[in-house]
Amino acid sequence: MAGRFAPSPTSDLHLGNLRTALVAWLLARGSGREFLLRIEDLDTQRVTAAPEVAARQIADLTAIGLDFDGEPVWQSRRLTRYADAVATLETYECFCTRREIAEAASAPHADGYRPYPGSCRNLTKAERERQRRTRPPALRVRAGDAVQTVTDRWAGEVTGVVDDFVVVRNDGVPAYNLAVVVDDVAQGVDQVVRGDDLLSSSPRQAWLTRQLGGPVPEYAHVPLAVNADGKRLAKRDGAVTLADLGRSGVTADQVLSRLAHSLGLAEIDEPVTPASLLRRFDPDALPRQAWVVE
Ligand code: GLU
Repeated sequence: MAGRFAPSPTSDLHLGNLRTALVAWLLARGSGREFLLRIEDLDTQRVTAAPEVAARQIADLTAIGLDFDGEPVWQSRRLTRYADAVATLETYECFCTRREIAEAASAPHADGYRPYPGSCRNLTKAERERQRRTRPPALRVRAGDAVQTVTDRWAGEVTGVVDDFVVVRNDGVPAYNLAVVVDDVAQGVDQVVRGDDLLSSSPRQAWLTRQLGGPVPEYAHVPLAVNADGKRLAKRDGAVTLADLGRSGVTADQVLSRLAHSLGLAEIDEPVTPASLLRRFDPDALPRQAWVVE
C-alpha cells in the first residue's frame, strides 16, 4: 500500500504544490501507507535544467518536513517499462493534428480536453502508409468509449467516457496518462492524491489501470491554490516558492505553519511539524474550496 507525490520538474514548487504534497503525505501516513516520490520528467527530458529543478523540488519537500520511502523514481529512466506496457494494449496510429481534432471533435470539456472523435480508428494499411510520409503517428489506445466511474475522497463518484486517448506522442515520448498509470501499478500505489485539475483524467487512468491488470486506486483530488483574482496560482504571482519566501526571511517551518493553517490544522503562525499535524488530521474536515493565496 502506497501513496505518492509526482511533480514534473518544470519549475520550483509553489505554495499550492507544497500544500498538495503535505495533504498527500498526511493521507498516506495517516492510513499506514508508504509515501513515494516520483519525478515526472518525460516532458522535460530535453530540458537541461530539469535535474536541478527536480533536486530543488526534493529539497523543498524535505525542508517542510516531508519524508519519503525509498529513492525517488525518475520517469525518464523507465522508458522500456512504458514501451512494454504499450505493447500489451490494443493501439492504433493517429496522424491527426490538434487542429484537425478541434475541427472534427465535439465541444471541449470544461477542462479544455477534447475527446478524440476516432478519425484514424479505421484507417487502411495503404492510408497509414501514405500518412506516415507526411508526419509521424501518435499511438492511441482503443478504448471503445468505455464508461468508467471512480470514487474520489472528496468529489464522490466521477463518471467519464473514455475516449481513444494518446499513449505515445508523435515524438515517441510516452504520454502522461500512460506513464502515470504504468508507474502507479508497478509501484503498488493504491492512493492517488494530487491537484483537482486532474480529477477529470481519473476515469481515463482508472480504465487504463484495469487494462494493465492493476487495482484501481483510491483518489483524492485537492482543491487548487489560486491568486487573489481566482486564477490558478503561478510563479508570476510573487513570493510563492520557498526560495522566494526565504529571500524575504520566511523560513520553511513558517511556510509549513501557513499551509497547515490553510488546511484548518493550525492557528496562524503556530509552530507545527508534519507528525504533529498527523494527530489532528481528519480528511473529512479538509476545506473543499480553492485556497486563495493573498
Ligand atoms: N506530474 C503531474 C503534475 O505535476 C502529476 C501527476 C499525478 O499526480 O498524477 O501535475
